[in-house]
Amino acid sequence: MFKMKKIIILLFLLISLNLLRSDNYKNKWVWIYGFDIQKEQDVEKIKEILNKAKKNDYNGAVFSAGLDSLCKKDEKYFKNLKEIKAYCEKLNLKLIPSVFSIGYGGGILSHNKHLAEGLPVKDALFIVNGKEAIFVPDSDIKILNGNFEEFTENRFKNFNFHDQPGEVSFVDQNIKKSGNASIRFENFTANQYGHGRIMQEIKIKPYRCYRLSIWVKTENLKPDGCFRMLVLADGRDLAPRSFNIPSTSDWRKITMIFNSQKFDRVKVYAGVWGAKSGKFWLDDWIIEEIGPLNVLRRPGTPIIVKDEESGEIYEEGKDYEQIIDPNFNLWKNFDRDYPKIKITSESRIKNGQRLRVSWYHPVLIYESQITVCMAEPEVYEIFDHEAKLLWENIKYEKVLLSMDEIRMGGTCSACSGKDMAKLLDECVTKQVNILRKYNPETEIYIWSDMFDPNHNAINKYYLVEGDFTGSWNYIPKDIIIAVWGGKPREKSLEFFNNQGFKVLVACYYDAGNMNDVKKWYEISKKFNNIVGFMYTTWGKKYDFIEDFAEILWK
Ligand SMILES: [Zn+2]
Repeated sequence: MFKMKKIIILLFLLISLNLLRSDNYKNKWVWIYGFDIQKEQDVEKIKEILNKAKKNDYNGAVFSAGLDSLCKKDEKYFKNLKEIKAYCEKLNLKLIPSVFSIGYGGGILSHNKHLAEGLPVKDALFIVNGKEAIFVPDSDIKILNGNFEEFTENRFKNFNFHDQPGEVSFVDQNIKKSGNASIRFENFTANQYGHGRIMQEIKIKPYRCYRLSIWVKTENLKPDGCFRMLVLADGRDLAPRSFNIPSTSDWRKITMIFNSQKFDRVKVYAGVWGAKSGKFWLDDWIIEEIGPLNVLRRPGTPIIVKDEESGEIYEEGKDYEQIIDPNFNLWKNFDRDYPKIKITSESRIKNGQRLRVSWYHPVLIYESQITVCMAEPEVYEIFDHEAKLLWENIKYEKVLLSMDEIRMGGTCSACSGKDMAKLLDECVTKQVNILRKYNPETEIYIWSDMFDPNHNAINKYYLVEGDFTGSWNYIPKDIIIAVWGGKPREKSLEFFNNQGFKVLVACYYDAGNMNDVKKWYEISKKFNNIVGFMYTTWGKKYDFIEDFAEILWK
């Protein structure tokens, strides 16, 4: 009896000291991302991953597979979804849907593309010519010497700088898009950062939409993705874009859109950061103020058309026809015409009149990211009908909210002036309530970054007008935080522990080894709020499923 008691005490001690490792963690999950479940071969690949996971004592699979745009899916999608669900059940693996993104707005935007967050254009000039009002740029803004025709030795006129003339950057009179010369960059190891850039500071008008374009040619340029075009103002990147240019490519035109926001001066850059080898050429770099390309039409993005002098406001549908962009496209085709304003026959607007027009437009971040406005009520109607469909099809018990990297907000009339941290928390609370409307027992998980002051819960995050600091204060305390991001984050684990949240550690991210996972495991041992781990790959790399389990629970 005495011996038994001793064993029980010892066991209790071991458990409380976190020393009994096996089955310590409630959640042993794998993240399934990047597959198209419409395709039979992808369904087969998913089954292989599930088999491998089962063999290594995983107990859940988190799916990011368009599960929040179910009303847009066809029969085949549902047939395959059913098959995957049955397969998870057979293996006794929990199927956890990952849904409801704001930062990566694809799901919401497949319902209504005008729910993208908008940046304001204020009082752009239109001049009436007959039955049309035509956009006219307010001033003659140029990239001086953008055709790279004026130079002395290897130094180009009018640019604030280009990296190391004669060493990294050169005049090239043999290879050029037009005229007699272009600028060539090479020999990147001569710069300690691998820089090969050119910059000009230009005066612009605040709150206008600009289009930047440049011709680029590359030859064995490495690494991939090192070429960028940047617009900086007051240390902020107004146009965080990346371009997938092949390492060797003939002349191609790169076009991007940005909004000047409150700034009247910007530094425009083109070139490479962190380049290792190869060459590239630039030519015919231009900037132009543009009209209502991709004009957003929803309650939070009103258009105002007024007389330049009197300020008299005209009425859509009465004085002018509804303004829509027939070629609206959030992701591509920015090098094209934008709508004119069509004057109606009974209009108060007269021929020759000067109008000032305000509207909102979206911008693309990196290659494919479009953010949704959290303050537009229609967003929650979409979440609601989608949650109902999700419940009918999956009978979810646990859900991961896909609320990472919200890089725009606070700029359209629905959300401007709001406390961004509170707006984010209201959004999350609504998402939780919507999911629990169909299953009140739903356990909710959420990506950590937008609630982590050591990560993205900060002031002036990307194009956000406002501050996410404090966002951790008002989200429901029973949400489990899926901590992720870069290198192992001890500070983040400590932060969520101090705030009283439970934590799922989402680690791996496609390295060639398990070194970071081992570090995540080591730092996780310091905290007793960890409910589990998720094998997280963004590049469909599932080779380490077994190693991951060995380290963490086998
Ligand atoms: Zn908004």
